[in-house]
Amino acid sequence: MAGLRCPLLGALLIIIVGVVRCSPKCFPGDQALGKCGESTSEKGTCADNTLGYCDDLPYSKAIFPNLLDHRSRGDVEFSAEYILLSVLDNLLQGECNPDLRLVGCSILAPKCEKNKIVKPCRRVCQALKKSCLPAFEAIDMAWPYFLDCDRFFVGEEEGCHDPLEKLRVNVEITSEDLAPQTPYTLIHFTHHNYNQMVSILKKTAAKCSNIAKTYSIGRSFEGKDLFVIEFSNNPGQHDLLEPEVRYVANMHGNEVVGRELLIYLAQYLCSEYLLGNTRIQTLINTTRIHLLPSMNPDGYERASEEGAGYNGWTNGRMTAQNIDLNRNFPDLTSEVHKIMKVRSARVDHMPIPESYWWGKVAPETKAVMKWMRNVPFVLSGSLHGGELVVTYPYDFSKHPLEEKMFSPTPDDKVFKMLSKTYVASHPKMSDQSTERCGGNFINRGSIINGAEWYSFSGGMPDFSYLHTNCFELTLELGCEKFPTEDELYPAWQDNKESLLSLIEMVHRGIKGVVKDEHGNPIKNARISVKGIRHDITTGEDGDYWRLLIPGVYVITAEAFGYSKVSKKITLPARMMKAGRVDFVLNRVEIKTRKYDKLIPEDIYDRYDPLDSYDPHAQAGQREQGEGDEQSQDREKPWWWSYFSMLGNNKPSWLLKNN
Ligand SMILES: [Zn+2]
Repeated sequence: MAGLRCPLLGALLIIIVGVVRCSPKCFPGDQALGKCGESTSEKGTCADNTLGYCDDLPYSKAIFPNLLDHRSRGDVEFSAEYILLSVLDNLLQGECNPDLRLVGCSILAPKCEKNKIVKPCRRVCQALKKSCLPAFEAIDMAWPYFLDCDRFFVGEEEGCHDPLEKLRVNVEITSEDLAPQTPYTLIHFTHHNYNQMVSILKKTAAKCSNIAKTYSIGRSFEGKDLFVIEFSNNPGQHDLLEPEVRYVANMHGNEVVGRELLIYLAQYLCSEYLLGNTRIQTLINTTRIHLLPSMNPDGYERASEEGAGYNGWTNGRMTAQNIDLNRNFPDLTSEVHKIMKVRSARVDHMPIPESYWWGKVAPETKAVMKWMRNVPFVLSGSLHGGELVVTYPYDFSKHPLEEKMFSPTPDDKVFKMLSKTYVASHPKMSDQSTERCGGNFINRGSIINGAEWYSFSGGMPDFSYLHTNCFELTLELGCEKFPTEDELYPAWQDNKESLLSLIEMVHRGIKGVVKDEHGNPIKNARISVKGIRHDITTGEDGDYWRLLIPGVYVITAEAFGYSKVSKKITLPARMMKAGRVDFVLNRVEIKTRKYDKLIPEDIYDRYDPLDSYDPHAQAGQREQGEGDEQSQDREKPWWWSYFSMLGNNKPSWLLKNN
């Protein structure tokens, strides 16, 4: 939890043990509006406003009962409404403060004139709601009922007052002077803890709701949602022939540069799209981009306890279960090295061996595997730290005892092209004179085959390539794993262009649709390239993408129960868009059983717990002695704990869908 930051709450916690306030007999605020059976007959008198969080209101006399029927200062201080105002600055990362607090205060400590309440102006409330609603959306909080502009606020004709009048005087002077000449993308280059990360992703998605969306792919061992922000002109769904790219960062919890870069990239994509940057608009209109800034949020917490700048090499690398996520994926590479000797063997879409499930599989790993299956990714980057190099599969050596052995995939040329693209736009990776980290990759052009650097099994890139259609690179972003904040802006400058260029590479090679003679899409058809023993399969809509370097190719499409069709194609050297190669396959009678082996109807159609796995069902791990109430609270938003001292009077009106 974010912690009780203000002393008032700490004090409340102690006092509240002995004080049990009655829960309201009707919905808060209704009594003041005469909607409850029992109405307020007592008449208040003007008195000095002594509420600590409301001491900067533009008036000094307030009155009780207030607009919410709180009868005394004590009633207000024990109310969820007041606690909300006191923690809003924390919850909303400083946004909407002090205006939101002051408007709230004008309800809790209403202006008093001649022993009567003067209500605040509706237009002030409406303007506030317009500018602050996205901040509430960002943390999944409902707009507070007591800031309902139609219920507690009135128009000018009824003699309202402006609770922000003092504020405006100051704002007018400063905002004019500071207004930028031209709009630009404003990013705060800081570290983000989990709550801040989630908040900024949601805020970004709210700001760019036409092109962005956040979703969770599952939960970490300690129950943190693994949040993804996606960008597309049609967020939330796959579009025919639109390729999908993902970036995954922070799978090693102590390697945090990638995590921050993806948070910045999300803000950059959103803002530049809105500002009319044509390159970004084209990219988002033609590509679906998914960013997972933290695959290991539990590990990050441990690493950040040591603090930025502490060059710890191990603390926080693992998950809360002490699992290294980049060793936890199924090892399909050993199998490949074995079957490569068989001439007809294809090395793609390999099933997960049953024995894999006998071992300890992290919920984070399962969530990512499930994600890989659900989305037809074509290209991926896994962001790490500790070195300055781009590595590409295989990561696991061809020879089990050989630590540093070049172990190329059948798509070695494609992987090299992709890796070089990242390096070319990166000033430090491409600069020969730059100071290097432990390994020196200058002579290799800052790229290396993973196994040739050092061999390990169970990595994510090998699994991605051998189990799905997706080509994944490992991006080692620099020597320091958890740098201080002043190094984050330079890191963004170094990597921004590379991150964008790599996404654009998804539009290389060929793409197309495979259909039958009636125009129906054929799912799971195989697209093979003569000379490359790695097939791509079509997705739900029959669409496919095949990354290729320029050259002449023979492409074949085949599917179970259909004729086989081949086409010869030429990809020119200066091609910036994927060539379109469609296929129409005719149904044929199946005479032999050989197709069964060659093209299984469903490549994942075998025992596999992942099929029935629900990554969201993992509601975190229970600790000893936890009560039912706490486990219910677990499903509540992260900020719910701010109100834990309120017992049964927690503000359920802040919960959405409630
Ligand atoms: Zn790493």
